[in-house]
Amino acid sequence: MTATPTSTFVIAGAGLAGAKAAETLRAEGFDGRLLLLGEEPERPYERPPLSKAYLRGETDRNSLYVHQEGFYAAHDIELRTSTPVRSIHPASHQLQLATGERIGYARLLLATGAAPRRLPLPGMELDGVHYLRSRRDADILAAAAARAEQVAVVGTGWIGSEAAASMRQLGREVTLIGPDTAPLARVLGPEIAGVYRDLHADHGVRLALGTRIVGLRGNGRVEAVVTDDGRTVDCDLVLVGAGAVPRTELAEAAGLPVRDGVLVNEQLEAVGAAGVYAAGDVAAAWHPRYQTYLHVEHWANALNQGPAAARNMLGVPTPYARLPYFYSDQYDLSMEYSGFAADWDRVVVRGDLAAREFLAFWLKDQRVVAGMNAGVWDVVEPIQALIRGGRPVDPARLADPDLPLDQVTGELATTSAQ
Ligand SMILES: Cc1cc2nc3c(=O)[nH]c(=O)nc-3n(C[C@H](O)[C@H](O)[C@H](O)COP(=O)(O)OP(=O)(O)OC[C@H]3O[C@@H](n4cnc5c(N)ncnc54)[C@H](O)[C@@H]3O)c2cc1C
Repeated sequence: MTATPTSTFVIAGAGLAGAKAAETLRAEGFDGRLLLLGEEPERPYERPPLSKAYLRGETDRNSLYVHQEGFYAAHDIELRTSTPVRSIHPASHQLQLATGERIGYARLLLATGAAPRRLPLPGMELDGVHYLRSRRDADILAAAAARAEQVAVVGTGWIGSEAAASMRQLGREVTLIGPDTAPLARVLGPEIAGVYRDLHADHGVRLALGTRIVGLRGNGRVEAVVTDDGRTVDCDLVLVGAGAVPRTELAEAAGLPVRDGVLVNEQLEAVGAAGVYAAGDVAAAWHPRYQTYLHVEHWANALNQGPAAARNMLGVPTPYARLPYFYSDQYDLSMEYSGFAADWDRVVVRGDLAAREFLAFWLKDQRVVAGMNAGVWDVVEPIQALIRGGRPVDPARLADPDLPLDQVTGELATTSAQ
């Protein structure tokens, strides 16, 4: 089916990626029918505050929304909330809503996000066990946290670590439980993750690390977490932060290829399904730099892939080649991380880990593949330039705080050229 200015474009999933795609379609002049279908009862909102300021009651609901209330109507975007899409039918360019209504489309964007990974362990059905994805989850968790005394956070990834920090800031007793040696160790490695272990410990979080949970105990309500090294952590509230799973169910049922996300090419069009696109947490997009499908569950990816998908839907070829980027705020430590390091040979630090003001670089074959700034600002551009440049670096120069980042590779390049 060819898209014409009067075609119907449908976006399934009214989160950040979907909302930014809709905004871009109108900004780029699309004047056909535009539907934005979301299963949640409210207009698109941002999730990062849900584990931070919003969970602590420091910001209100209105600050979360991607757009002002009148935005969708003003731009003739048919936002339908509480409207789950039940199935998609790429061969006939149709989809079906949970109500049974069928809608034809010329272009379809899947922006259905991700859902918290559930742990199939004994006791997970007890009262007092929480997950955190939606604003509603955050409201329920905040209300429960206000009554709780001992909180156990299961999982030391980003959401677990941030929520543990927030609940500690709210004055709760918090135990952070996970299999790694430090919070965030899987992404950052043990040395840099040690900064987060100390940060949480300094704020009075109890750390139960190097251990997996085997189940929960309780009688109706949760009373304890049991770990595989025989520990019992008493608690009256559990937050499970065990990662997220992309919401690929529509794509899978339609027979689209899915592997840790809906597989899409670098123009975010689904492999083998012309006219169907995917963006944000649900997508696994071919990345021209990494020559692999990347599934990125971060805010900036949804923010930027939505508009890129929109342009591609309009027939303007827009390959998505941005470096992955994310940020995290825990207590008074904010950080940003750029790049992608599946593995690395060494980590180079510039600055002071103990003072929590530093840059860290992950090197593979002498090249920077990822970089992080913590407690240091306005360096994302030069860090990303180092990664993009892909040139060998001298670790001593990289670590030298007196050498501007944009001069780090210069001398080595000159030296090796001599
Ligand atoms: C608590 C929390 C804190 C976070 N903090 C950070 C952070 O500090 N930094 C960072 O970089 N990233 C952070 N993230 C990640 C970031 O929020 C996500 O990457 C981003 O929300 C992804 O946007 P999305 O539009 O792809 O998906 P979502 O925001 O999940 O939106 C998808 C929407 O589609 C809806 N949907 C699903 N299936 C259907 C269907 N069949 N029909 C209709 N609608 C459907 C969902 O209900 C949802 O509303 C955080 C995430 C969470 C949950």
